[in-house]
Amino acid sequence: MKQGIVHETGLIAHGRGEAYDYLLGETTIPLADAAEKIAAASLLCAKNPVISVNGNVAALAADECVSLAKSIPAKLEVNLFHRTPVRVRKIAALFRKKDVTTLYGIHPDARIPGLDSDRALCEKRGIYTADVVLIPLEDGDRCQALQKMGKTVIAVDLNPLSRTAQTATITIVDNVTRAVPRIEYWIHLFKKKNRSDLEELIRTWDNPRNLRNVLCFISKRLNSLS
Ligand code: ATP
Repeated sequence: MKQGIVHETGLIAHGRGEAYDYLLGETTIPLADAAEKIAAASLLCAKNPVISVNGNVAALAADECVSLAKSIPAKLEVNLFHRTPVRVRKIAALFRKKDVTTLYGIHPDARIPGLDSDRALCEKRGIYTADVVLIPLEDGDRCQALQKMGKTVIAVDLNPLSRTAQTATITIVDNVTRAVPRIEYWIHLFKKKNRSDLEELIRTWDNPRNLRNVLCFISKRLNSLS
C-alpha cells in the first residue's frame, strides 16, 4: 500500500479474506482444487481468455499470474475499482519488470455495461471480448455485469458468501496465492488431453453444489474444533 499498488480499502478486503482463510485451515481444500481443475479446463478451451488484475492481486500474486498467463496463454488486464493514473502506471511498471510486454486495460476503449464507476473501464481486445475471465478478488457488481455479458466468470474468493462467490460461473474458495499456481498445475496436466474431454469435464460442473459443500466443510471443521 505504501508503494501505491494497493488501495487502502484493499487492506480491509485482504483482512476479510484472511478471516475466511482461517476457517478453511489456510490450505487448499479438495473442493477448491476441484474448482481449480475446472477453471483450468475452461481457460484452455477459451478463445480469448483474460486474467483480470487489481492492486491486491498485483501485490500478492503478480509472478503467479504472469506464469499462469504464459502457460495458457491468456491476456492480462489491469482493472481497478479506485482507478487513478498514478496507480495504473505503478501496476503497469510492476508487470513490465516481470517481462509482460502487453498489459491490457492501461488505455481502456470500452465499458462493461451496467457499471457506472471506473470499474466499467476495459479494453476491447481484452476483457470486453473475452469469453472466459479469471477475476481474483472481485466485487459482486462487476462479477454480475461480466456474467450478464455472457462470459464464463471464474472467481477466486475466500468468502463463499460474497456476491462474487455466489454469482460466478466457477467459484474457487481459496487464497489467490495458492489458487493461481494450482490452476497452472492443472493447465500443464490438461495440455495433453483432448478438447472434447475437457469440455465434458466443464459440462459436469455444478457451482451451487460446490459452494454448498464448501459451507458444509467449514461448519463441520468448526464443529470438530469446538
Ligand atoms: P461482494 O461485492 O462480492 O459481495 P466484497 O464487497 O467483500 O464482496 P470486495 O471488497 O471487492 O468485495 O472484496 C474482495 C473479496 O476478496 C472478499 O470477499 C475477500 O474475502 C476476498 N479476498 C481477500 N483477500 C483474498 C485472497 N488473498 N485470496 C482470495 N480472496 C481474497
